[in-house]
Amino acid sequence: MLEDKLKQVQEKVQLALANRREAKQTGDRVTLVAVTKNHGPEVITQSLALGLQHIGENRVQEAKHKQELLPPGGIWHLIGHLQTNKARQAVAHFTLIESVDSMRLLVLLDHEAARINKVQEVLLQLNIAHEEQKTGFRREEYLELLPQLPSYQHIRVRGLMVIAPAAADPEEVRPVFAAGYRCYCRLQELYPQIDCLSMGMSSDYPVAIEEGANMVRVGTALFGPRDYSLKF
Ligand SMILES: *Cc1c(COP(=O)(O)O)cnc(C)c1O
Repeated sequence: MLEDKLKQVQEKVQLALANRREAKQTGDRVTLVAVTKNHGPEVITQSLALGLQHIGENRVQEAKHKQELLPPGGIWHLIGHLQTNKARQAVAHFTLIESVDSMRLLVLLDHEAARINKVQEVLLQLNIAHEEQKTGFRREEYLELLPQLPSYQHIRVRGLMVIAPAAADPEEVRPVFAAGYRCYCRLQELYPQIDCLSMGMSSDYPVAIEEGANMVRVGTALFGPRDYSLKF
């Protein structure tokens, strides 16, 4: 049952918070994003009923389809790579776009947000482990971008998103999360108002929290395996 699984996740979150050593810059609360991709819309209804306000989806089309089937509600996060030709729809359908992974996309989102008079909240996705198959800003690009952020007037950067490489033992990726936290601190020195460090999924969220995450994206641990036969 979702209620039991949620309790287990919440307990692990609290335990990880208690185990944190440093990481003072991200506060002492964690936002749990319920990742509902490849599950039916009823899973979102159940999540909202249990007080999970933050809904994570990785495809614009799928989220749009579910939003059309559900009453208004929830705070929708886009967590998957966004193709530039979907930028307009993404701005229309998501409160927080966590997966901003290129300058080109940032420019486009700023433009699309301006069109509808919105200030789009985003996270910058970092490719900390320099994985070829993953998108995200590399360190040099990120450092170059930092001073330019205020020029995007319809974008509000709220922080960073990190996806760790898959690992059999989450301890292996602890250094990736620690590096994510250091990048966050650097961003916060320039922009003290930032408040989100999104790191960790079902397999590694406790380690991510120990290293400073204050937002975790959890799917499987709440909802079980995804159903890839569902078509949206
Ligand atoms: C699917 C996904 C998750 C959730 O993964 P689980 O292992 O099911 O918790 C988290 N973050 C991103 C970016 C994802 O695409």
